[in-house]
Amino acid sequence: MLQLNLKDKVAVITGGGGVLCSTIARNMAAEGIVTAILDLNLEAAEKVAQEITAEYGVKSIGLSANVLDKASLETAKATINKELGSIDYLVNGAGGNAASATTKAEEITENEMDSLEDTFYGLEMDGFDKVFALNFQGTLLPSMVFSKDMLGKKDGSIINVSSMNAFRPLTKIPAYSAAKSAINNFTQWLAVHMAKTGIRVNAIAPGFLLTNQNRFLLVDEKTGEATPRGQKIINGTPMERYGEPEELSGTVMYLLSDWARFVTGVVIPIDGGFSAYSGV
Ligand code: NAD
Repeated sequence: MLQLNLKDKVAVITGGGGVLCSTIARNMAAEGIVTAILDLNLEAAEKVAQEITAEYGVKSIGLSANVLDKASLETAKATINKELGSIDYLVNGAGGNAASATTKAEEITENEMDSLEDTFYGLEMDGFDKVFALNFQGTLLPSMVFSKDMLGKKDGSIINVSSMNAFRPLTKIPAYSAAKSAINNFTQWLAVHMAKTGIRVNAIAPGFLLTNQNRFLLVDEKTGEATPRGQKIINGTPMERYGEPEELSGTVMYLLSDWARFVTGVVIPIDGGFSAYSGV
């Protein structure tokens, strides 16, 4: 009978110092997976790794790496190979949106005609490029570096982190939406490209979770109340709430495990029904 077969596997988690992926890493360690927590923020990565080792007694190391810099990923890989051994799994979690790639106005209306700076026309290419690169190249490059260890094992699993934006773009955040959509496409492309190697490539598409990257859009800083955008999200989520970071982990571990041995190239929404709901 097929078992999950997660214990003692070695996983790399990029963005592992952040809210969602630190939780995923903790839950992975609870199942016996050895973790390398990679983040631009070394302090955050080390803290998560130390907490994991203390809480679960499973080896974890925190390393600094930039998902946009291949040399820094190669350096991290050398350390991981030396300290933890050969890599079996990769979770491409580093990503996010930024205010500099966000339009102030949701749409161009009669009123917006006088302030086109607040619309599509005011987008700064620098901010746009950074957000697109962080999410897309930041998934592609670590896949290129870390999956090398999975070649020849007839095994291995890569999980990309997509978003609701990939299916239908949300207003205001065109760079993030385009990049997450590109991640879905790349997940299918790489799954096909690698199918005969036994390396599987899948993605999760989280619905709405309240975290640092989107708090400024969803909660009014002064009152603590939901912004109109935050309220729209709740109204569009049949379960009528934000997701909890821990609710992503089960799907990630299913996709990593032998239970998903014949599953590759899929994007699984974890969204309280958001992507299924027409709004009516
Ligand atoms: P977060 O900001 O808490 O975590 C992201 C982490 O990535 C941070 O620790 C940051 O230091 C790190 N990082 C940023 N740039 C990096 C780089 N160049 N190299 C290495 N690390 C870098 O965000 P989060 O909410 O935990 O999001 C994690 C993932 O989930 C992202 O891909 C995000 O787009 C996606 N996501 C989040 C939500 C949500 O509601 N929060 C919904 C859908 C998808």
